[in-house]
Amino acid sequence: MGKLQRRINIFEETMAHMTYVQIEAAAQEGTLVLFPVGVVEEHGPHLPLAVDVYGAYLQSREVKSELEKKGIKSLIAPPFYWGINVATGSFGGSFSCREETMISVLLDAMSSLRNWGFDRVFFINHHMDSGHMKALNQAIQKARKEIGMGAYLVIDQFFAKGLALKADEPHLVIYQSLFPSGPPSPYLNIHAEGHETSFMWHYLPELVNQEVWKTLKPTDLSLDHFRFWVRGGTEARKVTPQGYFGDPTTASPERGREEMETYGRRAAGVIEAFLQGRYSPPKDPGI
Ligand SMILES: [Zn+2]
Repeated sequence: MGKLQRRINIFEETMAHMTYVQIEAAAQEGTLVLFPVGVVEEHGPHLPLAVDVYGAYLQSREVKSELEKKGIKSLIAPPFYWGINVATGSFGGSFSCREETMISVLLDAMSSLRNWGFDRVFFINHHMDSGHMKALNQAIQKARKEIGMGAYLVIDQFFAKGLALKADEPHLVIYQSLFPSGPPSPYLNIHAEGHETSFMWHYLPELVNQEVWKTLKPTDLSLDHFRFWVRGGTEARKVTPQGYFGDPTTASPERGREEMETYGRRAAGVIEAFLQGRYSPPKDPGI
């Protein structure tokens, strides 16, 4: 066994590090659950496969701590990472499961929560592949209908619009967009770019290959390329031969911390508004 390193542990501060006694007490108190969702997927030659899992986990921790400041108690479910990868599916390391598998696992996880007495789950998802999003939306809708779970998807306005989701659907909790993030850029920034490189650099610097990062150039791809890329397969791989889509060169650890904290405040704010019955979807699309 290799030397155990002091790295971020994705169970830290989640239900998985609690006892059943604490779980049962939390359910009785009506505590809400934050459910991090990511995938294991290639993220360019400079980042590890687990970026989206760490992303969803770190976002959930930010939201939990921001909610705490507002007097709202929450728990974090163990991060889910067997999602769906279409766009990057032809690269080594992009694990993907069938739509029905993802729906079943999420639904079963929510049934477990429901059986223990939890009745509200907010999904914090860090992967916008359209196949993955379709399955996640279906799992949430099924849980609402079949097991009476108050299941919600917390989502950025930019992606809600991009995925053609109806803003007034009862399971959507949409916050005003954080995209495009970072310094103004002529490039379309989608995957393993400045934003993702930045937060990995801040929270898990030993997992960013900076020697490789220094050699990378922006991809200079358009929305048309993006529409082609999302269909996946070996043709999509030709669009992003190095596995990233956008400009990783704008990354910095400061940016990573800032964007993660901004996310936490924005998402916790919209969840609080929702719980207080004063939520409405953002009106100005802003994009
Ligand atoms: Zn990602």
